[in-house]
Amino acid sequence: DRLVTAAADGEDQAVEAALRPKQLDEFIGQERVREQLSLVLQAARRRGTAPDHVLLSGPPGLGKTTLSMIIAAELGAPIRITSGPAIQHAGDLAAILSSLTEGEVLFLDEIHRMSRPAEEMLYMAMEDFRVDVIVGKGPGATAIPLELPPFTLVGATTRAGLLPPPLRDRFGFTGHMEFYAPAELQRVVHRSAALLDVEIDPAGAAEIAGRSRGTPRIANRLLRRVRDYAQVRHDGQVTREIAAQALQVYEVDARGLDRLDRAVLDALLRLFGGGPVGLSTLAVAVGEESETVEEVAEPFLVREGLLARTPRGRIATAAAWQHLGLTPPVQAAG
Ligand code: ATP
Repeated sequence: DRLVTAAADGEDQAVEAALRPKQLDEFIGQERVREQLSLVLQAARRRGTAPDHVLLSGPPGLGKTTLSMIIAAELGAPIRITSGPAIQHAGDLAAILSSLTEGEVLFLDEIHRMSRPAEEMLYMAMEDFRVDVIVGKGPGATAIPLELPPFTLVGATTRAGLLPPPLRDRFGFTGHMEFYAPAELQRVVHRSAALLDVEIDPAGAAEIAGRSRGTPRIANRLLRRVRDYAQVRHDGQVTREIAAQALQVYEVDARGLDRLDRAVLDALLRLFGGGPVGLSTLAVAVGEESETVEEVAEPFLVREGLLARTPRGRIATAAAWQHLGLTPPVQAAG
């Protein structure tokens, strides 16, 4: 597994609970979403009603689950956590909805991956706090209406655009989560280091932050690997040098690229002169499947402005030549 993937692995899940901010003012960055959400929550509290349903959209690892737990905590309400792929049948959703208590927060991760019938049931539940439970089959089937207590749905999705409009429209508020700035990630690293009892100086935290691809989950994971290195090879203290040495061992470079990312760039530059080259040719050159190159390496390279996808193929940018310390070929005149 990659150290720089934004998806959670088993170890992440075990420590993430301990590292999660518990209140809105502990949550670092995402100023806009935080301010908007804080107004929604305060207003609901003042009115003594459950707030509108909330949709959180953004790439993995930016804190959607964390925010949903904070929403529940700020409302003093319990939270139920499930995900779109876990709800295969409308009946699964009916069971969850009918067991909610008044004011409870229901967190539905990957809401865009719910089955169609469940999605339709959710429309009614969100709007009217009611579901129709179908009993029996065929001509004898009857719909039994079931009242639900008012609850707040917090849906999370990697892209709000993936949601069917009728579902999207039923959320009263959508928070768009952005990648974190290096200074914000540095604060995340400091905070996590304090919780994990790791001594780290500001330069050490900045070094880890700069390699974390704008993603707190990656920052926390890199911090744990740096901690291992500092404790095994040194006295446990994390400085810039220790962080850089540790991450060199794990092949995460100064910009957060790992071995696969660099292999793709390296082939593009050295074998194909910076492109354009077709995806499948590039994939063969690095000994990977096209899908791996396209879905695992390229999104970050594109986001970083190192690689561009054009109709004629992949091309490297000037920044890519610079990052690998190579000189671009001189263009033939004319
Ligand atoms: P996914 O969608 O992949 O489940 P997510 O967006 O729900 O990811 P979380 O699980 O909430 O991400 O966060 C991942 C980790 O990053 C957690 O350990 C959490 O503590 C940390 N984290 C996320 N956002 C912040 C933040 N703003 N401040 C401090 N820590 C954060």
